[in-house]
Amino acid sequence: MQLLLVEDDRPLAAGLRLALSKSGYAVNHVEKGELALLAIRTERPDLVVLDIGLPDIDGISVLKRLRKEDVELPVLLLTARDSVEDKVAGLDSGADDYLAKPFEMTELLARLRVLERRLASMKSSEIVVGNIVLDTLQQSVSRDGCVIELARREYMLLKSLFENAGRVQTRATLEQRLYSWGEEVSSNALEVHIHHLRKKLGNDLIKTIRGVGYKVDTGAQ
Ligand code: CA
Repeated sequence: MQLLLVEDDRPLAAGLRLALSKSGYAVNHVEKGELALLAIRTERPDLVVLDIGLPDIDGISVLKRLRKEDVELPVLLLTARDSVEDKVAGLDSGADDYLAKPFEMTELLARLRVLERRLASMKSSEIVVGNIVLDTLQQSVSRDGCVIELARREYMLLKSLFENAGRVQTRATLEQRLYSWGEEVSSNALEVHIHHLRKKLGNDLIKTIRGVGYKVDTGAQ
């Protein structure tokens, strides 16, 4: 999941980046509203966490402009004020959810999971790459219609590769998926999981991009 964090409070942003990364999000961070709009147009994220109080244009204005171009991108607003008026203004502007500062990290993560689920139900639950189908609702993988049993980590890695089919996923990004389960990861853990996936799904599916990471081609196999 690519998450764009728009927050000008640097200590808060640093803490959020760390916590969100540990939870498996690939986080990009900008501090200004104009930069947020530019970032979204350049590389559309899956989710946006948007602070209302920004140094240039405020988060509500960012959201209104964003919604003219992209009605579906899930946006969670952050604000220092917990007033009903702000909440209504935010939701009227097209926010999917709203969280008042200060908040618990667990609360933010829970809200983001809700947005992710909504996103998943809007899109098809199936990602197809060649003869392999990954069903994100059933959390199952099948090849030519036959279910392939994968360990949870193998499934999560494959999901990350499939969601980004055609794009290289760096080792660091993929390892974050492993760290997100809150476990220490040995230096070759990623290779071991990739090895298992290739044994189960075929050697040609996952390409090694030497020194960078891995990818699957959209039309692989
Ligand atoms: Ca702020």
